Amino acid sequence: MKTIGFIGIGVMGHSIVENMMKNGLNVAVYNRTKSKTDELVHKGAVWKDTPQEVATASEIIFTMVGFPQDVDKVYFGEDGIFKADITGKILVDLTTSTPSLAVRLAEQAEKQGASALDAPVSGGDLGAKNGTLTIMVGGNEEAYEKVVPIFKTFGKTFNLHGTAGKGQHTKMANQIMIAGTMTGMTEMLVYAEKAGLKLEKVIETLGGGSASNWSMNNYGPRILKADYSPGFFVKHFIKDLKIALDEARTMEIDLPATRLAEELYSKLAEKGFENDGTQALIKLWWGAEG
Ligand code: NAP
Repeated sequence: MKTIGFIGIGVMGHSIVENMMKNGLNVAVYNRTKSKTDELVHKGAVWKDTPQEVATASEIIFTMVGFPQDVDKVYFGEDGIFKADITGKILVDLTTSTPSLAVRLAEQAEKQGASALDAPVSGGDLGAKNGTLTIMVGGNEEAYEKVVPIFKTFGKTFNLHGTAGKGQHTKMANQIMIAGTMTGMTEMLVYAEKAGLKLEKVIETLGGGSASNWSMNNYGPRILKADYSPGFFVKHFIKDLKIALDEARTMEIDLPATRLAEELYSKLAEKGFENDGTQALIKLWWGAEG
C-alpha cells in the first residue's frame, strides 16, 4: 500500500492524519516539535527525522505548517522535501499560504519530475476532526485526480480551481467572506448583550434565519462559554487577511471591509491575544475576562 507523508502536526494536521489512518492509510510524519506526533505514532504513524526523509518514504506528501516562511523552509530548506528524489511523486500543500509561493513550489516540483498542488482547507478544527473539510485546489488535473481518494479521507467538498496558486486564491476569497462573518457575529453579540437579550436564544433564533452562518453557529456558543482556545489562531487569520489584501492591491481593487477586519484583528494581537482563537475578537468590547 502507498505511504502518505505528512509534515506539520498541529491543530489541523493531527486530526487530518487521524482520519487518514482511520481510512487505512500508512502515514509517515514529521513536525518541528516532535512530541506533538507522539499520540499519532502511538496509533501507528511512523516518525521520520526530516521533511526530506518523509518525502523519500512516501508517494504523496502533504504539508500543513503555519506561515509561508514555514512552507518555504519545509520545501526548500536544508533537509527539505526538495532535497529528496521526488520523481513521480505528488506534493500537496494544505497550508494557507501565498499564491506566488504555490507557483514556485509547482515549478520546482516540475523541474524534479514531480507535481505540486496547493490545497488550502476550510471548516476549522471541527471540520478536521469530523473529516468534513472543504479543500480548494490549484495545480494540474492529473495530479488532482490521483489525490482525490486521499482528499476523501478528510474532506467533504473539494474542487480544482485551475493552475498552481488558484487554490490559494480561492482560500483568500473564503477568508474575505469569513472577515465579514466574524466581525458581523462579534458586533451582533455586543449589540444583543447591551440590549439585554438572552444570547443563547438570539444565536438559536438567528441560526434559523437569513443571518445564519458558520462563524455564528460554531464560534457563538464558544464565546458564551468564554472558550477562546484555538480553533483557528488569531495570528493565522491576520496572516490570511494580509495575503488577501496584498493580492487585492496587486489586482488594483480596494476591499475596505477586509482592511477594517485586518485592523481589528491586529489590534487584538497587539493586546496579546494572537494565540487565542479568532472568536476572541469580542475581547475588544468585553475585555480580557470575556
Ligand atoms: P498549528 O497548530 O500552529 O500547526 C502548524 C504546525 O506546523 C505546528 O505543529 C508547527 O510545529 C508545524 N511547523 C511549523 N513550521 C514547521 C517546520 N519548519 N517544520 C515542521 N513543522 C513545522 O496551526 P493549524 O491551526 O493546524 O493551522 C495550520 C495551517 O492551516 C495554517 O496555515 C492555518 O492558517 C491553516 N488553517 C487553519 C484552520 C484552523 O481552523 N485551525 C483552518 C483552515 C486553515 P510546532 O508544533 O513546533 O509549532
